[in-house]
Amino acid sequence: YADYALNHAEGCAHGCTYPCYAFVMKKRCGVISSYKDWIQPKIVENALELLDKELPRLKNKIKQVFMCFTTDPFMYEIEEINRLTLKILERLNRDKVKAILITKGVCTDQLTDKQLYNEQNEYGISLVSLSEAFREKHEPFSAPYKKRIEALKKLHDAGLKTWVSIEPYPTPNIIRQNIRDLLESISFVNRIVFGKWNYSRLTTAYIHNKEFYNSMAYEVASFCECHAIETHIKEGTISPSHLGTGRSSERVTLANYMQAPS
Ligand code: SF4
Repeated sequence: YADYALNHAEGCAHGCTYPCYAFVMKKRCGVISSYKDWIQPKIVENALELLDKELPRLKNKIKQVFMCFTTDPFMYEIEEINRLTLKILERLNRDKVKAILITKGVCTDQLTDKQLYNEQNEYGISLVSLSEAFREKHEPFSAPYKKRIEALKKLHDAGLKTWVSIEPYPTPNIIRQNIRDLLESISFVNRIVFGKWNYSRLTTAYIHNKEFYNSMAYEVASFCECHAIETHIKEGTISPSHLGTGRSSERVTLANYMQAPS
C-alpha cells in the first residue's frame, strides 16, 4: 500500500471478529491482553512530536504514508482519535507528504476544509457487504455501511481521490450476497482493491472457495474496466490452478491481474 505507515493508536474500537490480524498479532506478542483491551484504544500521545522529529529527515524519501495498518484513523464516534488524525494530516500536508487512508468509520467532511484539503491524498473505506446484520456480527462497532459510502461520496464530489478495499470478502457459507450490488454502490471511486478472507476456517470450509474467489475477482475486474476504475486484485486471491474450467474471457482477464505488478 505504501512505503511508510503511521499507526497513532494502540487497539481499535471497531473490534472486527474476522479475526482482525492486528489484534491477533498484538495479542500474540503480549502488547494487548484481551479483546476488551483491544477495543479500548489508547492514542499515541506524542504522535505529533514524533512527526516533527522524523519528517525533516524523511520527507524527501517518503512516497506515501499509509494510515493505518494496525488501527483505524476514523474510528466510529471516537472523537479523540479522529481529531488526532486530522492534526497528523495537517502536519503531513505542511511537508507535502502524501497520505493514503482507510477506515471502517466515517471520513469526516472536514477533509474538504481549506487547511486539510489535499488533492494528492487518497481516502478509502473498507466495504465487504451491504448487510447491516453482517456488519453487526463481524465488524460490531464500526460505522454503518450507508454512512461510510455517503461520507466517501462527499469527498469524491469535492474533487478528492477515493478508493474502496473489498477485503476480506466473505464466501457464500458466511453470507449470500450479490457483489454487483456492492460494486454499484461504490461506482464513483477511483480505485477498488479486492481480496479474499484470510485466517479463518470459515472460508476453507467452503469447498468451492477457489472457484468462488476467481469468479468474484473476475466480476470486480470487469466492473472496474467498464467504469474506468483502477483495480488491484490482492495476491493469493486468484487461484491459477482453478482457472481451467472457467469461461475463456475470465481466464484471460484474471491472467492479466496475476501478471500485473502490485
Ligand atoms: S477496523 Fe481494522 S484495525 Fe480495527 S478491528 Fe477492524 S480490522 Fe482491526
